Amino acid sequence: MSVLKKVSFATKSRVLAPQSFIALNRLRASEQLSPAKLAQLRDQRSSEMARFAYDNSSFYRDFYADHGFSRADLDDPECFYSLPFLTKDHVREHFAEIKTGQANSRTARPSVSSGSTGHPLTVLSDVRAPVRAYEWRAMEWWGVEPWQNGATIDRTHRHGLRQAQQQLLYWPTKRIIFDTLKLDDDALERFVQEWNQVKPQYVVGFIGGVATVGKLLAERSKMAHSPTAVAVTAGPLFEGQRQEMQLAFGAPVYNHYRSTESNWLAAECREQSGLHCFDDIKNLEIINADGSPTEGSSKGETVFTDFANRVFPLVRYRIGDRTARIEGDCACGRPFRRVATIEGRIVDNLVFPSGRVLTGDIFDYFEGSAAYIQQYAVYQRSDYGVEVSLRLTDHPDALPVAEERVGRLRARVGAEAPVSLKIVDQIDVVRGKFRPIVSDAQAVPPPPAQS
Ligand SMILES: [Zn+2]
Repeated sequence: MSVLKKVSFATKSRVLAPQSFIALNRLRASEQLSPAKLAQLRDQRSSEMARFAYDNSSFYRDFYADHGFSRADLDDPECFYSLPFLTKDHVREHFAEIKTGQANSRTARPSVSSGSTGHPLTVLSDVRAPVRAYEWRAMEWWGVEPWQNGATIDRTHRHGLRQAQQQLLYWPTKRIIFDTLKLDDDALERFVQEWNQVKPQYVVGFIGGVATVGKLLAERSKMAHSPTAVAVTAGPLFEGQRQEMQLAFGAPVYNHYRSTESNWLAAECREQSGLHCFDDIKNLEIINADGSPTEGSSKGETVFTDFANRVFPLVRYRIGDRTARIEGDCACGRPFRRVATIEGRIVDNLVFPSGRVLTGDIFDYFEGSAAYIQQYAVYQRSDYGVEVSLRLTDHPDALPVAEERVGRLRARVGAEAPVSLKIVDQIDVVRGKFRPIVSDAQAVPPPPAQS
């Protein structure tokens, strides 16, 4: 069967997804480059993308001109790192001008994310980007081949034609789906049956969903099969959580970094020692608050340039996640740069009656303490009260550490709202989403800026 699957998949990929197949070979070629050559390629593609944006998007032309850059300046590769950053506000306010002439119903598809201030943010994805090949690359790193059976644990379903196309491409390869919006006993029971029948080699999903489903499945101890790899995204991934998932699935768990705005950005290799940036398809920068690049392994904000989006160029786009570079070479020998686990993804802010907003930096209270805190969730009620739920390790100091961390958050919030601590055995799912910070409070507009 597996030979049939392999041959069938390879044949169909060439026919149904020839671009993905060609792209995969290109991606493989850049893995053979030296780090210096790869850096050169990345800078060259970054500059090329900035020129494309200037030539094809009226927003960028004006934006760069307003900051004193001419078209000729963009030919200098050094210039790229002085260009102004694209922010979410730019995207919100100048959507029509950012869009290029290449955007039409066949090339562009809207991607909507929740946005950092709770307002939805729409960008256009370029459907010509070989996203499937990006996933195949990561799968190869994890020892899984594209034609092997898989399982998706997610709250979104593919429907209609897209699902049919997908099935046709993958048949006789099977992909089973667990919809985390319907997390009940019957669904788990059905999933276990499918699991044991299909024997997926590859599991992919959001960290919270995969962790919760994995734990529930392991408790039933009816899983008669372990996959080759479990891939999780929408970090942060705690080491304690990773170990727990690895036990539940009986397989290594790999972290990767994807975004609504731009598909694959980075993925771990089998060394599990940081995420390798996909330097040949994106330029991932990490910056300080003043826009300068971070030094060494200090933490900063992520900014990326997507080399494949020609319908809605994202050049030096401040996506607003946080991470740090990992210095030195990876034992796997790949030339790609590495970053630490990604923080601040898919989160709400905490908002307060005075208009004050607390953002992703509240992660810092609960992270980097895997010895004590296994998992956390912060929920803000509509009356602004904040409930912190923590799942602790068996460490004797876990509780005092947890109380100390919550005390710090309480001090930060001050008199504006109460902050309570709940020690839990399981982190609950809020509306099918697994997000570390969820707020139901209404943001109060900040006082008008002084000019
Ligand atoms: Zn590696």
